[in-house]
Amino acid sequence: MENFIVSARKYRPKTFDTVIGQQSITSTLKNAIRNNQLAQAFLFCGPRGIGKTTCARILAKTINCKNITENIEPCDKCESCTSFNQSISFNIHELDAASNNSVDDIRNLVDQVRIPPQVGKYKVYIIDEVHMLSQSAFNAFLKTLEEPPSYAKFILATTEKHKIIPTILSRCQIFDFKRISIDDIVKQLNFVAKNENISAETNALHIIAQKSDGALRDALSIFDQIVSFTGNKISYKNVIENLNVLDYDYYFKITETILNNNIPESLLIINEIIDNGFDGQHFLIGLGEHLRNLLVCKDASTIQLLEIGEDFKTKYKEQSEKCSVNFLLKALDINNKCDINYKISNNKRLHLEISIMQMCSITSPVNDEAQHAKKTAYTPPPLKKQQVMEKDTSSLKSSPTPEPEKHISDTTVTTPQIKKSSDVTPGTISIKQSFKQQNENNNKNEFHDIKEDHQKTADEFSQDQLDKVWKIYISSISEKLPSFSNAIAKNNPVLKDNFVIEFKTDNKLIANDKLNISDLLRYLKKELNNYQIRLKPVVATKEENNIAYTDQEKFEKMAEKNPAVKKMKEQLNLEIEF
Ligand SMILES: [Zn+2]
Repeated sequence: MENFIVSARKYRPKTFDTVIGQQSITSTLKNAIRNNQLAQAFLFCGPRGIGKTTCARILAKTINCKNITENIEPCDKCESCTSFNQSISFNIHELDAASNNSVDDIRNLVDQVRIPPQVGKYKVYIIDEVHMLSQSAFNAFLKTLEEPPSYAKFILATTEKHKIIPTILSRCQIFDFKRISIDDIVKQLNFVAKNENISAETNALHIIAQKSDGALRDALSIFDQIVSFTGNKISYKNVIENLNVLDYDYYFKITETILNNNIPESLLIINEIIDNGFDGQHFLIGLGEHLRNLLVCKDASTIQLLEIGEDFKTKYKEQSEKCSVNFLLKALDINNKCDINYKISNNKRLHLEISIMQMCSITSPVNDEAQHAKKTAYTPPPLKKQQVMEKDTSSLKSSPTPEPEKHISDTTVTTPQIKKSSDVTPGTISIKQSFKQQNENNNKNEFHDIKEDHQKTADEFSQDQLDKVWKIYISSISEKLPSFSNAIAKNNPVLKDNFVIEFKTDNKLIANDKLNISDLLRYLKKELNNYQIRLKPVVATKEENNIAYTDQEKFEKMAEKNPAVKKMKEQLNLEIEF
């Protein structure tokens, strides 16, 4: 087997003009050489693998060349150039500060700086990862950097510019290297493939370029890796398999099902993706990019932002025509929220599924609940609630009056509706009131049995009687339903007018536990021989009693304790900023 040279080395640019994607930097350097205005020290900043060291070497080689071309490139023939090519030039010194960061390492380098070059004009010192130098090494180096001999040039390179101390920054000419664009990387990969007689699908090279995140060196080593796996043929299929990249087709497919409001199908696709070993968040991020690409396709001016292989471009355009901008924005929003909360979610898969189902309902006929339910076949109940909540919270935001009845438990649970209305007298606070009102509304239909409604039997009973029956019930269920019995045992029930029994719980799950509350109600009706009893759970005692969140709430609470506060506000005509 012949000697294998990694592509990143074999195809390392040897002239300024062949450097990929850093044109502004190379032309600035060339101009400086042409005008003989070369700085004494340079700082090359930017991510790894984008050409910092390469440019430093070309610079070193060029300024030492005896016959610089008109185009300010090294001649590649003179004594100096050939020694550079064979890596035996004494005029270039490279120090990797990541592994040589001690004072001694720097002292060695400083000692060398004192010796003028024997051949050529300049000695060039390249210090890579310069931010890794220890503090004392930095200090030892600083003196040399302040007063370098005229023949010495320093090129400091770093991926972390912010770690470079100002005293160094101020002594260097700074060059910020850019990430290399996907198109540029693809071009270079194509070039290498042709030279190596490797047939490569452009889509495959695009995936490699994307995976390398703007670092050409990484792209080339991925390229080598794929070649070593698959021989002289690089196809889209073997690249996504080797790089564990999710096939674009999945994104096209799931977007299609989302557009068709097809929840079952979309869940199956997610299942397949997860079965194939892909991480949910990985998929989410990919889907976000996919939606973003569709959005970008919507406008001729942004279509250039589509960093995709040609074959896929047509596919993207086709799908984007099926999506409205509104749909894409909403889907992106859902996707983004899901992504942000993914890590903290306890049931990540469900979290993902809910988001996809929400996307599926963006374009569904929202007003027709029944039709919606039919279409989405087996929408699980918690989801429906979620969807309703999504819609309703927005409508709540826009309209000042709380929406009645339909969403019930959700609104009770989420935010207390704090309405400041003029007819609320100081002292009776809206939090409490709105809570009561809501719970009344909510429970009007919830915890009583319609079948029993016609039974007129309604014996009077006292609070004492109620307390007794309540306690008996609690002890009777304490073993079977410990959490429910504990929760309702915390506060005594309160008998209100019209046989409404209010009971407090700080747990919204308890308040929504229809099954157990219905059992309780049935028991109370029977024991107290009163079939008109209604049960009214009141949630969020904590908020009610202790915590004021917004400034408005804080003010209301203060005013409740001390009406003079409110009076003062009115008299001084003060405003509270909410
Ligand atoms: Zn030369």
